[in-house]
Amino acid sequence: MDRLMRLLAPRTAMGFCLRFLYLVALMTAANVFVHHVADDQRLGSVRYHILHAMFVSGPLVTFFLAVTYFQIQLQKKLWRLSREDGLTGLNNRRSFFDQTAIARAAKKEGVLMMLDADRFKAINDTYGHQAGDECLKTIAYTIKRNVRQADVVGRIGGEEFAIYLHDTSIRQARAIGERLVKPISFRTHATEPLSVTLSIGVATTCAECSIDDIFGYADHALYQAKQAGRARMVIFDETTAQPLKQGAA
Ligand code: GH3
Ligand code: MG
Ligand code: MG
Repeated sequence: MDRLMRLLAPRTAMGFCLRFLYLVALMTAANVFVHHVADDQRLGSVRYHILHAMFVSGPLVTFFLAVTYFQIQLQKKLWRLSREDGLTGLNNRRSFFDQTAIARAAKKEGVLMMLDADRFKAINDTYGHQAGDECLKTIAYTIKRNVRQADVVGRIGGEEFAIYLHDTSIRQARAIGERLVKPISFRTHATEPLSVTLSIGVATTCAECSIDDIFGYADHALYQAKQAGRARMVIFDETTAQPLKQGAA
């Protein structure tokens, strides 16, 4: 369909005229054909109109429906491209924020986790960018496998991910975080299996908190996790505005 559309779409005034003449010639041929068949077989006027609609209007209607279908597919594709991270298939940053806002509109309570791959630059520098990409895809897959379908997961930066656990207690979030701070193995074509760890900052959300506040808390907790040596989770307590607990992998 893409190829047909490219073939039919005029790019210059001359292209438009040529296509116009070609299509008019085709319709004329179809008209002549119908007249010829109707005359030859002395068909009645209803049959004539049915034949006319089939041979002259039919291709035009089919073409119109095909173009409409193609447009809708294109719109879906564009919508997906604007919402999805091309490498991992997760929500991109904008989509993550939108989905989280929707989840919070339904129920304010939930848990936000910010995850950052540890010493990721060294993976790129040592094993190449392709290995780095494989690593990011494996992290995305691992995160998805550890959360529920209804939770929101996104890649919000180069090697930064975020999870919004909808209607979840801090105890449940802690269990998920403890699984995610364990080393994650990934394969590349060129090397033996490698592994990467994540640092995680966690913040609980509440009715009064704005999404920006919660991101600030989780980001602060993530920073603490990095400072404390990486491969760990820090849970932020917004009531005291201090990191609450630290759990090493
Ligand atoms: P830290 O433990 O402190 O987080 O260190 P880090 O090395 O993970 O962090 P840093 O910010 O120094 O490096 C992040 C690197 O991620 C740098 C950038 O080139 C790389 N990166 C960002 N996006 C992509 C991507 O899509 N693919 C690959 N392969 N690398 C990426
Ligand atoms: Mg990092
Ligand atoms: Mg980072």
